Amino acid sequence: MFEVSGRTFPLSDIKHEADAPMSDHTTFRVGGNAKEIFFPEDMDELLMVKRCFIGPAAKCMVIGKGSNLLFDEKGYDGVIISIGKNFSKAEVEELEDGAGAVIRAQAGIRLADLALLARDHELEGLEFAYGIPGTLGGAVVMNAGAYGGEMKDVIESVILIDENCNIKNVPASDMDFGYRHSAVTEKEIVAGAVLKLSKGKKADIQAKMDDFQARRREKQPLEYASAGSTFKRPEGYFAGKLIEDSGLKGYRVGDACVSEKHAGFVVNLGHATATDIKQLIADVQRIVYEKQGVHLEPEVRII
Ligand SMILES: Cc1cc2nc3c(=O)[nH]c(=O)nc-3n(C[C@H](O)[C@H](O)[C@H](O)COP(=O)(O)OP(=O)(O)OC[C@H]3O[C@@H](n4cnc5c(N)ncnc54)[C@H](O)[C@@H]3O)c2cc1C
Repeated sequence: MFEVSGRTFPLSDIKHEADAPMSDHTTFRVGGNAKEIFFPEDMDELLMVKRCFIGPAAKCMVIGKGSNLLFDEKGYDGVIISIGKNFSKAEVEELEDGAGAVIRAQAGIRLADLALLARDHELEGLEFAYGIPGTLGGAVVMNAGAYGGEMKDVIESVILIDENCNIKNVPASDMDFGYRHSAVTEKEIVAGAVLKLSKGKKADIQAKMDDFQARRREKQPLEYASAGSTFKRPEGYFAGKLIEDSGLKGYRVGDACVSEKHAGFVVNLGHATATDIKQLIADVQRIVYEKQGVHLEPEVRII
């Protein structure tokens, strides 16, 4: 039996970790402990965990790679469901007309692995996703995108567990995909997705992936812990340019720093705390608003 908030649950068979530091489960590498993290390995386990934590009083959230999340020092006083490598099966089914294929994948697969699977089957359209360090589930929730591509371009449908634990197959047209936005609520879980991709040439697909990776390495501070672009792109502007033009490159609060390489990234130089990062984000918002009159909205989800 497993106990949380004074209630007991028959969940001890499911892989889990108590008092788990969120710094180990997020790419910013900061954050205090979560009470418990579960790592379900199949749909039954996922549903079992979800069923135990339904209802307004239940404090429960789902994470993928934690590459767009910032937990504070208090951590998370509840249960985290981590959907990662244990929940990452994928299969490819060629279309009868030979024009492409569909990929059915579980939410925990890394986008990089999904892009490699597509490349190996000579399927184009996922090259943009190769360098995004998240899972399919997180990418659906965020409608992740880069270099002109977005998840909404390749998703046919999403397998969603709703708040009452019903499994639904939701067509992409009902997902309300927009810029870093989808219809998925905090009470729902993306269990997987169906992607439709066209036939391409392996060499061309590889060349595109190499080009995008080279551009990332040249422009982004990949040597430091971060959560990628800290702010959303304001309509008509680029967040990085606004921050740079406000003289904030290299601006620091403790070990939290506006990257010298790409001002759109807040990086952890080593020992930043979540408080440092949050203070830095607030300072950047204030100074950019004072100097440029534009409000920056965080893309990073602050818990
Ligand atoms: C170096 C770096 C580069 C990046 N580059 C890009 C980029 O080019 N483009 C881009 O869009 N993003 C980029 N990101 C941000 C991040 O990788 C994406 O937002 C990614 O889609 C997040 O996936 P994740 O699995 O890590 O989700 P998490 O960060 O774990 O979660 C993100 C949100 O989704 C929810 N969630 C996660 N999984 C599920 C699920 N299965 N069911 C329901 N809810 C879920 C979480 O509760 C949270 O609200 C970058 C990040 C880093 C660190």
